[in-house]
Amino acid sequence: MDDIPREVKALIRGAQGLCAGIDLVNRAAWECRLDDPERARRLAAWAHAAATSGAYAAEPYRLGLAASLRTQAFLHNDVGNYSEALRLSLQVLELLGDPNDDASEVRALMIDALGTMSWTYRSYGDYGAAAEYGMRAFRLAETSGDRLRQARLLNILGNIYAESNDPQTAVDMGERALAQFRELGMADGESVALNNLALTYLQQGDGARALATCQESLRIAHEKQVNAVKLTALSTLGEIYLGIGKFADAELHLRRALTLSRERSARYDEFLNLLNLGKTALGRQQPAAALATFEEALTLATALSDRVGQFQAHQLLADAHESLGEPAAALDHYKRFHGLKETVFSENATQRLAGLRVIHEVETAQRDAEIHYLRTIELNKEIEERKVAQAALEHLANLDPLTGLLNRRELFTRGEQEMQRTRAAGQPFTAIMFDIDRFKDVNDVYGHAIGDQALIHVARSVRQSLREGELIGRYGGDEFVILLPGSPSGQAEQIAERLRAMLVQKALIVSDQAVSLTLSLGIAEYRVDTGGTLDALLALADQALYASKQAGRDRCTIYRVSPLV
Ligand code: GH3
Ligand code: MG
Repeated sequence: MDDIPREVKALIRGAQGLCAGIDLVNRAAWECRLDDPERARRLAAWAHAAATSGAYAAEPYRLGLAASLRTQAFLHNDVGNYSEALRLSLQVLELLGDPNDDASEVRALMIDALGTMSWTYRSYGDYGAAAEYGMRAFRLAETSGDRLRQARLLNILGNIYAESNDPQTAVDMGERALAQFRELGMADGESVALNNLALTYLQQGDGARALATCQESLRIAHEKQVNAVKLTALSTLGEIYLGIGKFADAELHLRRALTLSRERSARYDEFLNLLNLGKTALGRQQPAAALATFEEALTLATALSDRVGQFQAHQLLADAHESLGEPAAALDHYKRFHGLKETVFSENATQRLAGLRVIHEVETAQRDAEIHYLRTIELNKEIEERKVAQAALEHLANLDPLTGLLNRRELFTRGEQEMQRTRAAGQPFTAIMFDIDRFKDVNDVYGHAIGDQALIHVARSVRQSLREGELIGRYGGDEFVILLPGSPSGQAEQIAERLRAMLVQKALIVSDQAVSLTLSLGIAEYRVDTGGTLDALLALADQALYASKQAGRDRCTIYRVSPLV
């Protein structure tokens, strides 16, 4: 970046940082692409280098690079390097291919790239693809509310329809473009639109209207000093005069256009004007003059490596030789015309296929990105679901599968924690252990399944009557444990008694039969002298439970130092 060209220096003076400088150069390149394509090429090349080297060597300045490629694609298309134009336009789309990016400058670049692609496909003669890309760009411009680009695209679409022999649609598009450019006060756009409309009117056979429209185009181009359009309008005017058989007028305008194109080094325009001048000479029955002009055109097309131009020149040279009564020379040019046309056609087909393949790849890449994105979402969802399932599994692993109460292991883990916490807070901690009376008989009388129902019934009934923070677990078989943090044994006894009474009231109903169940309960409060573990506390509760059983069942007993006394 040490040797910044003077024209770039002038542009980026006062720019806030390199990014802004590159943006300015890109904008200038795009704006002068029609009037001064050489300058546009230099500026775009500088922006390209700046956006990919130095500070941006590792990671390019994406927007800057895309904007430069967009201009380069346009310029390549303009000189007939269609495959290169297509390749660069696709690169722009790839660089900006984030469908969620709604920044207006990103959209503008995408619209321009799609517009160039549309124009490239038109040059290939693939009007279907051309119209499709043109419409895509147009819709994007509509969504963005970008009226200038909408108008430009209407112009492009108008040309595509004109060339694919649908002049009515072409006129519709062209007139809409014209109206929009007028509303926007864009004189250059207005004169381009008029120029295109003029050619379409000529195609429709309305020479008078074509002429009037083209003259209007020329007038605006003169008035507003739109040089690029001035040249085009003069050429078009010559072509219209040629089309309506006014050869003198045609020659006059075509000569002026030729001079202008040479002044401006617009070599493709120079070629087109030479071709039309030769046709005018043929029309005026001057085959020798025509021959000389076509030969000049051929030389130019060869210098430009424009093979479409070359075969067009050969075809016209053949016509001129024929008019001059030189059939051998005519035949020679016809042969060369056919040969070149074949090559160009098959090359175009190959390029078109290559372009379509690249598009397919880009679209596939975008689809893959989308799929990847969706897969990521899906994966995250799956991970979340797995986490939930895992948590559920872990939770389930801590529960007794039949009753849903804490299993013995979890009861001990949580019970120990609660006991430590309660003790640290200086609060009492009490355990109730209970067992279903004569449960073996239930199994024996009603069967094991009803026995299970009975276990579930007891578990559910007891759990429902407990408060938050109180733990209940299945200790084993028909034995259960309740842990009451913060409750002294007196309070625990009340709870135990309430549970016992509740269960007496609440028999298990199975098929209209009432299965009465009673509980024996033992209560023990934590004591320092019992070793301090939950295990030791439960041993005391078990002793109290045993005392209940011994005393005749269906009762509560509080552990005392000598419970049996
Ligand atoms: P007691 O009043 O002395 O407790 O008499 P009991 O018949 O209830 O005697 P004990 O508590 O010793 O018997 C427990 C019985 O519970 C033994 C076993 O067959 C039964 N049992 C243990 N687990 C299950 C179970 O999951 N389902 C069923 N249906 N029965 C079980
Ligand atoms: Mg029992």
